[in-house]
Amino acid sequence: MMEKSLNEFEQRFRSLEENYKVIQNTIAEAAVKSGRDLKDITLLAATKTVPVEVINHGIELGIDHIGENRVQELCEKYPSYDLAHCELHFIGHLQTNKVKKLIGKVSMIQSVDSVKLAEEISRVSLSRNLTTDILVEVNIGKEENKSGVLPENLKDLIEQIAVLPSLRTRGLMAIPPADTDEKETQGYFTKMHQYFVDIRAKNIDNVNMEFLSMGMSSDYSLAILSGANMVRVGSALFGSRIYK
Ligand SMILES: *Cc1c(COP(=O)(O)O)cnc(C)c1O
Repeated sequence: MMEKSLNEFEQRFRSLEENYKVIQNTIAEAAVKSGRDLKDITLLAATKTVPVEVINHGIELGIDHIGENRVQELCEKYPSYDLAHCELHFIGHLQTNKVKKLIGKVSMIQSVDSVKLAEEISRVSLSRNLTTDILVEVNIGKEENKSGVLPENLKDLIEQIAVLPSLRTRGLMAIPPADTDEKETQGYFTKMHQYFVDIRAKNIDNVNMEFLSMGMSSDYSLAILSGANMVRVGSALFGSRIYK
């Protein structure tokens, strides 16, 4: 029994090693094509459903950013992650009543899309003498039932968040609509990059437009070519997800 599960991990370790190399090469190529360097692009491993043993092997290989989607899963895995050389981000939809569980554990919350959520992050961070970094999530495809602020409300939201204590805005995040062709996806990425540049040019106090987080397994190269400097890759690294 024990031996079998070790072998299973061994297989996952080997394919992770191969996938990681391929992804690093693809990122390096896209970076160079867009006039940047591999080190200017942050690869964040999206680790939902991935066992901690496999995640920690990835960290040993050099992965230095990981992101979880669900608060409960993150809290269960939290004691076992090797975080000495790796940042843990929260990238999923976040309910206000769960903020308390994340503050102090994560280096960044990428999915802030309302003043109410930002206020709670600020309040809890302040009460614990911490500063929490956030990205503002944009619903770039204006999809119903999808997280993220609508593009037309983005500037107002950022200005309202900027004045909150113990919270630092460091960029934007987006998940464009799925099942679109490459040209349409590129259109969403390009719009996001334009918002990123426009907001950066405003030089709002306490807002640093450093990270543009977009692009997943199927489109991270395209995202980098369109201006992303952080990509969130799950299945291309770890294989298809097995939901229990
Ligand atoms: C799961 C997830 C990803 C990665 O998705 P893949 O298609 O498996 O690469 C990226 N971002 C978020 C917010 C996710 O939930």
